[in-house]
Amino acid sequence: LYRIRTKGLKYNELLAVNDVSFGVKKGTTTAIVGESGSGKSTVAKLILQLETITSGSISFDGQDVAGLKGKELLKFRRRVQPVFQDPYGSLDPQYNVGNTIAEPLLAHNIGTKKERQARVLELLDQVSLPAATQFRYPSELSGGQRQRIAIARALALKPDVLVLDEAVSALDVLVQGQVLNLLTELQAELGLTYLFITHDLAVVRLVADNVCVMQKGRIVEASSTDDVFDNPQQAYTQELLEAIP
Ligand code: ATP
Ligand code: MG
Repeated sequence: LYRIRTKGLKYNELLAVNDVSFGVKKGTTTAIVGESGSGKSTVAKLILQLETITSGSISFDGQDVAGLKGKELLKFRRRVQPVFQDPYGSLDPQYNVGNTIAEPLLAHNIGTKKERQARVLELLDQVSLPAATQFRYPSELSGGQRQRIAIARALALKPDVLVLDEAVSALDVLVQGQVLNLLTELQAELGLTYLFITHDLAVVRLVADNVCVMQKGRIVEASSTDDVFDNPQQAYTQELLEAIP
């Protein structure tokens, strides 16, 4: 589905991503792990077209998507949606839940007001929240509920791929498990493809089919989850695994 090949992304003089090449299979979960600053979020931004690669290519379903503009970019955005870590401003405190979830539909000019309202209820149901949640504001919700809203909004445009950047990292273990279960159910139900970015290897073991290990802007190891955990090839991967509590 996805092929990413890039020689780099520079912030000023810093090479945040350098020589990253991997594929993501349809309907599966590919995790990107690595220590803080290794370039995980930068890869997410490149894939989401929130940053532009300085060289190389990003292809999606055989189409080169790096540097898309205008209508083509909008079309791409309908297929690939982000879910970020909640505390970092993923929800606007001024918008109630209904408007938050309907926002991508409005931005893409989809449906009448009535149809958008119906879709909001459908999406709330998909993330197992009661219909009345639509009238609440982000500040009136728990962290787990807020993350469900972020997922509902990401699903509004019926995308194929979710890029989840530390999407459950801020939640306590119990709620984390609940949101991970929800993501697993949604994947089976909707055939979604996940790019699952996290520093938490225990979570990776639970959800990922394949794992890419990043170190200093490079992918140093990429394999099936079982191989990475049971038979790590790189000393760096072993170090990461040893740090799991
Ligand atoms: P974390 O686990 O802490 O989220 P990460 O693996 O996601 O880390 P990135 O956010 O991709 O790391 O950052 C990679 C490098 O690029 C870091 O050295 C970071 O300081 C730098 N960086 C990221 N965004 C910017 C930016 N907008 N401007 C300048 N430097 C940046
Ligand atoms: Mg990050």
